[in-house]
Amino acid sequence: MRLAIELANTAHARQGTVCDELQTPADLAAWLTRVGPRCAVPVDDESRSTVDLADLAAARGLRAAIRAVAGAASTGRTPDPADLDGINSAVRAAPHWRELAFDGTAPRVTTRHGTAAITGALAEVAADAVDLLSDGRIAACAAPGCVLLFLRDRPNREWCSNACGNRARVARHHDRRKQPAPKRDAA
Ligand SMILES: [Zn+2]
Repeated sequence: MRLAIELANTAHARQGTVCDELQTPADLAAWLTRVGPRCAVPVDDESRSTVDLADLAAARGLRAAIRAVAGAASTGRTPDPADLDGINSAVRAAPHWRELAFDGTAPRVTTRHGTAAITGALAEVAADAVDLLSDGRIAACAAPGCVLLFLRDRPNREWCSNACGNRARVARHHDRRKQPAPKRDAA
């Protein structure tokens, strides 16, 4: 799964209650361990052991911004500039570049970023969000009670999973049956 979606979905709903997997610095460290191998600059053990409340606030702020912009985009609203800034400032906080080295005669490229490891990792997540949100590939699940974001594999996909699609269809069917049948105009 893409990093931006994976961060966004650390808040998810279970039987109607929102579960938050990022409540403490230790939660964030565990999350970074999980996604680390997919970052261009993996967060090393030492950096992970230094995750503090400021890092947690940064991660939660980025998550809220991604969720808000994706939610607005999925429902045809203009995103709030403050949420866009939440993503863009995270990207800007950690410029990264590729450096060239040689192992003897074999070229080797290493990605580095010019800041603390956690800020760098969050910048990678934010950059992924810029990619996905700029071409409409992130969407918020439209099923009742689901708060997950998903990667759109076709333009009109509305639900994160078949289970949510089935649930949403049942709910719509139920709603229609509750409403009185529309009157036909006399011809
Ligand atoms: Zn869903």
